[in-house]
Amino acid sequence: PTGALRIKSSVELVKEAIADPNTLTVVQVAPSVRVGVGELLGFGAGKNSMEKLVGALRTLGFDWVHDTVYSADLTVVEEGNEFLDRLHNGGRLPLLTSCCPAWVKYCEENFPEFRDNISTCRSPQQMLGSVLRKFYEAPERSGGRRVVSVSIMPCTAKKAEILRPESYTDGKRDIDFSLTTDELLGWMAAEGLTAETCPESPADDPFCLGSGGGTIFGVTGGVTEAVLRYLSPKLGFSGYAWTADAGARGFQGIKRITLEVNGAPVRIAVVSGLKNAKELLQRVRDGEEQFELIEVMACPGGCIMGGGQPADVYRSLLRRQARSRGLYDTDGTTAIKASQENESMHRFWETFIAGQEHTLLHRNFGG
Ligand code: SF4
Repeated sequence: PTGALRIKSSVELVKEAIADPNTLTVVQVAPSVRVGVGELLGFGAGKNSMEKLVGALRTLGFDWVHDTVYSADLTVVEEGNEFLDRLHNGGRLPLLTSCCPAWVKYCEENFPEFRDNISTCRSPQQMLGSVLRKFYEAPERSGGRRVVSVSIMPCTAKKAEILRPESYTDGKRDIDFSLTTDELLGWMAAEGLTAETCPESPADDPFCLGSGGGTIFGVTGGVTEAVLRYLSPKLGFSGYAWTADAGARGFQGIKRITLEVNGAPVRIAVVSGLKNAKELLQRVRDGEEQFELIEVMACPGGCIMGGGQPADVYRSLLRRQARSRGLYDTDGTTAIKASQENESMHRFWETFIAGQEHTLLHRNFGG
């Protein structure tokens, strides 16, 4: 029956902001979007089309175009540190990931006893949202213009996330509009932007370079794999090499990984689909299973199969595999593999974020 539903689109409001000379418009693109558009733009299913997307967004009139992979790296470092803190200091475990707003809402409503297990880290969308607003609202960058921040995301849950009370910083909403991949494709088609007419362009500095770990956030298990790449040198998992698949890849609804640190197990579950999340949380609640870390993505397969991605391919197993391959191939050819190796992120952290981690990178309940 969901054929009767229509997404409340913000495209016209975004166009108005772009047309307003007193407005500076910034946009970010999620990891999964770049591998979701290839088949419709004529590049082939799962092909990483980020440079074409950036070119299209510039042609549509955005002043600055950025890559959410950058803030996926921020998330890995901050969430990894939160995990280490909870592990070493008797904090609440298992740590539940917070990147997927549909999952966070589901957990809050159906398993309130696990509410404090959810990571306090903002999602990559919201981390970049708070950073971009702070960065561009500085008078030397805005020149007194109003800053309008937009995100291109794989699902409508991200539209709801930007409205949550903890998605505000210093009383101001971080992101003004969130568009789905489908909405962007519709807008591009209306402007006659095709594979042939779209110029190619890299994203704008400094929020442009991300690690392979940040890129695979778009597929189930990607967050876990990226966080393990960060934790591995710090915890020294015995017999584990982060260069190999640690068991986080693949489309099974629940994957279990056990690593060892000084003889003690670190148990991780990777869950895709809310039905599987329900089953696993019930088992954890009833004491039938124990974990230190649980990743949950509401969409089976992760964001590559989000409800805002092109719908005609939504049910296709082949497309899901192609999109997943597109992200892992990009990881394979990215020089920086682990988030902590992202020098650009470290430099920005030291010069801009340092001292404001709580305000900019964590969910500040109450505004
Ligand atoms: Fe959105 Fe689905 Fe990704 Fe969750 S898993 S953030 S609902 S696309």
